[in-house]
Amino acid sequence: DTISEKPGVGNRILVFVRLRPMAKKEREAGSRCCVRIVNRGDVYLTEFASEHDYLRLKRLRGRHFTFDASFPDSTSQQEVYSTTTAELVEAVLQGRNGSVFCYGATGAGKTYTMLGTVENPGVMVLAIKDLFNKVRQRSFDGNHVVHLSYLEVYNETVRDLISPGRPLVLREDKQGIVAAGLTQYRAYSTDEVMALLQQGNQNRTTEPTRANETSSRSHAILQVAVEYQVKDESNNVVNRVGKLSLIDLAGSERALATDQRTLRSLEGANINRSLLALSSCINALVEGKKHIPYRNSKLTQLLKDSLGGACNTVMIANISPSNLSFGETQNTLHWADRAK
Ligand code: ADP
Ligand code: MG
Repeated sequence: DTISEKPGVGNRILVFVRLRPMAKKEREAGSRCCVRIVNRGDVYLTEFASEHDYLRLKRLRGRHFTFDASFPDSTSQQEVYSTTTAELVEAVLQGRNGSVFCYGATGAGKTYTMLGTVENPGVMVLAIKDLFNKVRQRSFDGNHVVHLSYLEVYNETVRDLISPGRPLVLREDKQGIVAAGLTQYRAYSTDEVMALLQQGNQNRTTEPTRANETSSRSHAILQVAVEYQVKDESNNVVNRVGKLSLIDLAGSERALATDQRTLRSLEGANINRSLLALSSCINALVEGKKHIPYRNSKLTQLLKDSLGGACNTVMIANISPSNLSFGETQNTLHWADRAK
């Protein structure tokens, strides 16, 4: 099996960094770029980013990070997809599970990376497109069936983003932990998917004070399950299922803030809980621990079968170039560094 020999498959977590372009608002506020990406892997964080300072800082320790790949602000959605996720789509077609997370502060580019726009579709859409192409190219007819589910974890409450309604209860069945009653949307082509996901994103919980903006405390999880049949050695037809989970995480800034102070509100505590639980699971996986604390949050329960074990896990840390976000960027890079 060639898949298992490729990097990124097994227990190691692949960690990528994506720098977004400077926003007009940031430029107008007089902000400067404080991030440099060199050689597609190295990230330098500095409050001064002139060429001179960069050369000087290159020799300083402590603010230099290395990742599996780092994407400068000119990187296309397609390139981000190909480098981070294409291999996991291949693995899903071998009957394995995998997951891709976008982590970072609010405004750092998580939703752009995952969902994207109609003109520049993101990882979620490109993965499904690639999946359908690969199924079409397959030499055997395995009756591939593709199901999508799209849900939100907000305040430790699970909601269906395809057909919103009452909160869903998590149940343990023979397949693992499932959200009871979650819509399993049967997809036949890519065309219908973008609209479905855009609509689903609209259904994410919004802050009461900012009615049109998605809450920075909401995690969105798209799961793409592919079921098909293969013949085993004794020529028996067996079912195989592979599942890819693509996760647009809540903004990391509150989790970090509440982590340091006392947990004031239930909401803050719950956001903290899912992100902290994810961090704990990832750290435990990276350290090769036997016990992985999946039970600590809804997010990690839902992703239990898609993290660790025979799974492939990819983390994309999103960052802004502006020195106004220096602290958040530093926190994100440190967090990503620990996930390696
Ligand atoms: P987040 O989901 O992390 O809060 P968004 O994905 O909503 O952040 O990004 C914030 C803003 O920056 C949006 O207007 C988005 O379109 C824009 N943006 C983010 N990343 C990029 C990128 N790589 N290229 C162009 N625009 C981007
Ligand atoms: Mg977002």
